[in-house]
Amino acid sequence: MHFVQIYLRSVRDTYTWHTEHPVQVGARVALKFRGRPRIGIVISVSLQKPEYKTQPIDEILDEQFIPATWISLAHWTSEQNFTPISQVMSLIIPEKFLLQCDPVVREKFWFLTGNEFETLKGVKQKLVIEKLLLSEATDEKLREIASPTVLKNLAEKGIIAFRLGNIAPAAQPDFTRPVHELSPLQQEVFEKISHSKKSCLLWGVTGSGKTEIYKKLAEKVLEKGNQVLILLPEIALTPQLIAEFRSVGSVAVWHSKLSEGERVQEWARCVSGEAQILIGARSAAFIPLPNLKLIVLDEEHEWTFKSETAPRLWTHDVAEWLSFALQTKIVFGSATPRLESWMRCENEEWNRVELLSRINETELPKIQFVDMRNEVKFGNYGPISSYLAEAIGATVDAGKQVVLFLNRRGFSGSTTCRMCGETYNCPHCDMPMKLHRNGKNARMICHVCGHLAPFTDQCPHCEATNFVFRGWGTQQVEQVLKDDFPGLRVLRADADSMGGKHDFRKLCEKFSNHEADVLLGTQMVAKGLDFEKVALVGVILADVGLSLPDFRAEERVFQLLTQVSGRAGRRTMQGNILIQTFKPDEKIFSFIKHNDTEGFLSWQKENRLATKLPPFGAIAKILFSHTDKKTAFDTAQSLFREIKKRSDCVCNFAPAFWPRTHGKYHFHVFLQTETREELYVVLRSLSLPIGARIDVNPASLL
Ligand SMILES: [Zn+2]
Ligand SMILES: [Zn+2]
Repeated sequence: MHFVQIYLRSVRDTYTWHTEHPVQVGARVALKFRGRPRIGIVISVSLQKPEYKTQPIDEILDEQFIPATWISLAHWTSEQNFTPISQVMSLIIPEKFLLQCDPVVREKFWFLTGNEFETLKGVKQKLVIEKLLLSEATDEKLREIASPTVLKNLAEKGIIAFRLGNIAPAAQPDFTRPVHELSPLQQEVFEKISHSKKSCLLWGVTGSGKTEIYKKLAEKVLEKGNQVLILLPEIALTPQLIAEFRSVGSVAVWHSKLSEGERVQEWARCVSGEAQILIGARSAAFIPLPNLKLIVLDEEHEWTFKSETAPRLWTHDVAEWLSFALQTKIVFGSATPRLESWMRCENEEWNRVELLSRINETELPKIQFVDMRNEVKFGNYGPISSYLAEAIGATVDAGKQVVLFLNRRGFSGSTTCRMCGETYNCPHCDMPMKLHRNGKNARMICHVCGHLAPFTDQCPHCEATNFVFRGWGTQQVEQVLKDDFPGLRVLRADADSMGGKHDFRKLCEKFSNHEADVLLGTQMVAKGLDFEKVALVGVILADVGLSLPDFRAEERVFQLLTQVSGRAGRRTMQGNILIQTFKPDEKIFSFIKHNDTEGFLSWQKENRLATKLPPFGAIAKILFSHTDKKTAFDTAQSLFREIKKRSDCVCNFAPAFWPRTHGKYHFHVFLQTETREELYVVLRSLSLPIGARIDVNPASLL
């Protein structure tokens, strides 16, 4: 008898069934759960009878539905991240495969089989025949001229029939970008990566043409009939990028905006091998690719590669696990690598390959800082300094375009009554609500929980009408630009202005066609966009995020500002960057000014070595949240005491940086050890209260 542990959709725990036939992990089976028929996936097999009575499975539907490697990946991820395996399995397989035997739609091709169509009377029927006399046609094409009933009738008369083609892919761009010859430098980099036995960090400045190198690497892998996985931050998954890889092979895509139906199609194309290249965001790392031989993780410094929901993991770790299990090549790409990745190269675990000049050999942009304290001295309290104003004017007059970046949406950071000093705080989060102004409409929005409140120009406490707006937001900058530069065409890109699925793409097209002079926005405008005519990039306030009490705060600001700067002068001319700050003496800015990534990283290395923070030590963050402050406090405290009793590792316990959000109080317990192994030993020894959230190697301490 074989005892099989089964994953079922929407069931947190996994249970055991039995079968007389041998069965492999990854098989798809039909069974009864609580008296109802269900479809499940075998996640482990044993000859050992469990202590409880088991039921037989009804039928093995597919002997090997998911390759065993991905079931092992699920087990590993579950253990590493203290997450139930069911939660990981839901990333590995779309749930429709557990609801229906065959949810996959294949393309239908209709063709003529008989010739007794002379007598047909129906106009629609004749149209179909006329079309099919020329060539066979897809179901989709015929639907344009006739209804499914017409087709069915013709098929019943034996006049037409269909054959099934490939699995229909999700919508993709209808254009392809050609593969270009590599420059001598790119060729050299390509060779180095091709011959490297280790994982590679491709350190390439923005605009150096990393994508062409990935394409060549993919081409080589596809020649042998293997598959490629390209992981990107969600925001970089543009139609342009997908079109780049379509010239190399058949592409599947995977991101959060796919519909459930599209997920099924793309998944089936990957698993069957019909798709040769999978391009996707973080979650694509879990999609089974049976012939996987190359993994590319581009923009590896992006924080979106760390999941903030369970399983809380770095995509880097998943990619490395796969690379080890399947013996595949792996390439991490970035202009501003994480210190963690940089150190892997210093320690010779990875190879560092450099690509430090731009394709068209344009100079890297010229970077200047503007001391905003001087502006205040001369009475300018607004977000646009006199230098930036002048530069915007000159750039637009010369027929070029401007990108302005500010990492804060809305109108202002906080709104305080000038008379009574009351600040508009969110009732659920104890944090300032942000004022949002859209023409005449004004309202307060909490950026943490989304709570909305009307904003009248009268203080609810003292009825005064005079407010202090602290901290500029993108809406305020837009207002100032419109007031100060009449006729200037401004586009704004932030979470407020970009509601729909295609809004951002349309806006980019508009800007690309020079239908606007200025593109103003949050992080959205910083990443991966390539506009030919941008000659000036202005950073409205570089200080945002710098004063956060977090060991990665500087790394984040450095990466972001370097990315933003890369938006200027990408094609033929040298760009200008103006960075406004109230703290021009911050050490980080000297590295940004000189494009000195290496210097920045060695400075960060010193800091982290001194504090034993990752990658020079291991850290875990355990979060407790409760609507009752005392309950949250007590639970955290008792765990803190338990750790202290069991281990001599560094441990502390404190209210979270944002102590109350969504109506809940938050407390953190931090654990620090020298190695990851020691950390796991301590974590596994604990009896954790329900609801505790463990985050190993957190992206942030906040
Ligand atoms: Zn007031
Ligand atoms: Zn709130």
